Amino acid sequence: MATETNDLGPLPKRITGGCLCGKITYEIKFPENHNFAESSGTCQCTQCRKSTSSLFFMYHRVPYSSLTWTSPSLSTHLKNYYCSEGRARGFCGDCGTFLYWRREAGPNISVAIGTVDPLYLFGEGHEATNGEVPKEGFGKALAYGGGGHEWVKNEIKGVTDDLKIVGAGKDGRGERVLTE
Ligand SMILES: [Zn+2]
Ligand SMILES: [Zn+2]
Repeated sequence: MATETNDLGPLPKRITGGCLCGKITYEIKFPENHNFAESSGTCQCTQCRKSTSSLFFMYHRVPYSSLTWTSPSLSTHLKNYYCSEGRARGFCGDCGTFLYWRREAGPNISVAIGTVDPLYLFGEGHEATNGEVPKEGFGKALAYGGGGHEWVKNEIKGVTDDLKIVGAGKDGRGERVLTE
């Protein structure tokens, strides 16, 4: 079952994020009708595992037009790796942080959820935001996993095959590849 939006806690209007060294930063302003419940997911394909150095690629998918790169000299630091044609895997050329997967001909970008700033992910520093960000941040809205879970056939039995985040998606048992 897809997660109802009202199960996700407060929904952000905007978030910021970036790489570990700080040379790449971004801001996302969510569209009015953004479906938080169906925009977060995971991929366990070998490409995503190698690329993210983790068992999961955990992402939140947004329209590319809603993302603004806010760091200067972006082109100096942002690198794209193409494992398959037209599919960009973005990372920081200085610190190595993996930032996104994107089909360049498509309208969306799948932002690596771990690059969201801690303020928005779990509320670190929320006191200074005058109520813009709640105490617990927006982590559940951003990362609950109610969207697509791509390529679950690479699940590791007893480790990644029974996690709540994968079960949350309505296509949690599907075997799809990232297509947009
Ligand atoms: Zn960096
Ligand atoms: Zn993948």
